[in-house]
Order: sequence, then C-alpha cells, then structure tokens
Amino acid sequence: MFSSLISPAIFLLINLLLFSTSPCLSSPTIPMNSYKYSNWEKFETFLDARRGSNVTQMSELKKYFHRFGYLIKPQENQNFSDVFDAKFEHAVIRYQARLGLPITGTLNNQTLVQIMSPRCGVRDRHHHHNPKPKSRFHATRKFAYFQDQPRWNRGVPMTLTYSFSPVDMITSLSMTNIRDAFKRAFGHWESVIPVTFIESDDYGFADIKIGFYNGDHGDGEAFDGVLGVLAHAFSPESGRFHLDAAETWAVDFESEKSKVAIDLESVATHEIGHLLGLAHSSVKESVMYPSLKPREKKVDLKLDDVRGIQALYGTNPNFTVGGFLESEIYSNDAGAFHLRTLILFSTFFALMIGVIL
Ligand SMILES: [Zn+2]
Ligand SMILES: [Zn+2]
Repeated sequence: MFSSLISPAIFLLINLLLFSTSPCLSSPTIPMNSYKYSNWEKFETFLDARRGSNVTQMSELKKYFHRFGYLIKPQENQNFSDVFDAKFEHAVIRYQARLGLPITGTLNNQTLVQIMSPRCGVRDRHHHHNPKPKSRFHATRKFAYFQDQPRWNRGVPMTLTYSFSPVDMITSLSMTNIRDAFKRAFGHWESVIPVTFIESDDYGFADIKIGFYNGDHGDGEAFDGVLGVLAHAFSPESGRFHLDAAETWAVDFESEKSKVAIDLESVATHEIGHLLGLAHSSVKESVMYPSLKPREKKVDLKLDDVRGIQALYGTNPNFTVGGFLESEIYSNDAGAFHLRTLILFSTFFALMIGVIL
C-alpha cells in the first residue's frame, strides 16, 4: 500500500502539496468538524499530544471521536474539554486498534493523517467481531458485523433489487456511467455469495435505494461537502444508500483529473458491504476498511471481506478461494498484538502500584 511504502511524514507532506492548491479546500472558513487534509494547520497543534496535554480546540477533535463511536458525549449542559484525559487516551487507543495503526495512545503523525483521510460515515463502533478467533488459514479475522448481526432474509437463491432515486442524482457523470459503476460494484459481492442484484425502475419498491444528497438530508447524518465523509449506508434490511453529492465522483481517473476525485465504484463496493450486513474491518487493504484516499481505486474484495460476507450468506457455488493470497490480509495482526500487550502491561503496572501502596 502506498502509505506503507513511505514514511507518514513524507506522505503528509505530499498530501499537503496536493491539496493546498485546491480552491475548494484552501478556504480558512472550513469548520473544524470537517476533518480534512486541508486542515493540517489546525491539526498541527495536536501533533504528539498525549495524556496530560492541554491543547486549544482539542474539544473539537473529541467531537470527531464521538462522531465515529469512540467517545461518549459528556453529560447534558457540558461540553468536551481541551484536556487530553484518560478517557480520550482510551478512545485514541481503540481508534488506532480499529484502524490498524500502531497503538501509541498519542496523536502521532500517522493517527492525525488517518483522521484527516476521507472516509465512510458509518460509525466504527456498535458492532462486534466474528466470535471465532481463527480461520482455517490460521490468521485472526478482522471483519465485523453490526449489532445483532442483521442480514437480508429472503429465499435461496436470494435476489435483491436496487434502484436510483428519480430526483436525487448527480449530473457530472452520465447515468450510463453511474449504472455501469454500480453494476460492477454489486458484481464483486455477487461473485462470492449466492445473491443476485437486479436494477429496478421501481424506486419505491426496490430493496436498495440509491441517491446523492447534499448536507443535511433528513436522516440525522448530514454530509459535509468535499472530502471528509463520502457516503453512508444502513444495515439490513434498510436498503438506504446515500452518497455525498458534493464529491467529485469519478469512474475513470484518465478523464477526471481533479486531485479530490473519488472513485464511485470503490465507494459503492464498500457501502454495499454495509447494506448486506458487514461493518468496518481493520484490514487496511480490505474493501470494508473505513477510509479511501482521493484518486484511490479499491474494488477487489480481499479474503477478509469474503470470509465475512460468506459467513452471513453462504458461498456462491462458482467461487474459488484460489485467487486470494493468505498474506494479502494479515498485515494488521501486529496492531492487535500491540494492543493486547499494552493492556497487559497497563494491568501489570496498576497491580504493582497497588501492591506498593
Ligand atoms: Zn463504511
Ligand atoms: Zn443519509
């Protein structure tokens, strides 16, 4: 992966050079709650903050952690403070573990870059991992489901219909291009599970309803303009699939030169995973990882995605595991190990202090 080949500092520098020239992103009026690459000047003050630090506007950063399910809101009439307290340290540790980052409990460069990355609007918390810790490939599974593991319950073989909103669409891409991108995206999942997706003209009765929306669109999950949150979709059997109309959606980076272009098929493939019942994975290479960089294309399901969805729906009779390499998905196991080690050491030192006192 690109970011793993170069140091986070160089990666950040490249991002700054890439995005600081964009007229859409250079405005100083971008609010702090829109956590985007362009906001590094504001984020710089958080660099290497750790427990005990007191940094102006840390409370704003805490809202981001609350937004994605890592931090509980303070009691009524109280706001987040600017103090990096124990609760926030715990939230940072859980964030780093869920995103497959090195577990430090500090706001290091890599963590801040991840926070600024464009991402899916679905929360990372409120779901649980598969209870079986090991697969037959002797590696830890990273995929996750939503609370209570919802899935579509239809006959087998299952057919689900999808339809595009008659009004809430974008005009920057042709309907043919949009249709083709979604057909490919559904096809990725179709090839591994016994489920068929059919486009329908009947939006009202379709199982999956797709639309592009600006800002607040009535479901309590407002979009935030260019980059930041790109899209969100709801768990089964809701079928609601919403994309941020403000993004520069692309189906071909050769014809779309924008530095903030987002690949439609990649985002569609990710969100279909949610519509079927998968939550976010901490495997960076997987389709169900929560973030996607501008001009990045990530449409091929990884073994982690496949195992997760097949555990819910079964296996497509034509599916073969041969094309998947064991090594492709397990690069994050080290992160989980570090978290376990950190917790063990914390417990050990707490016990030792208790004994000494
Ligand atoms: Zn997502
Ligand atoms: Zn929505």
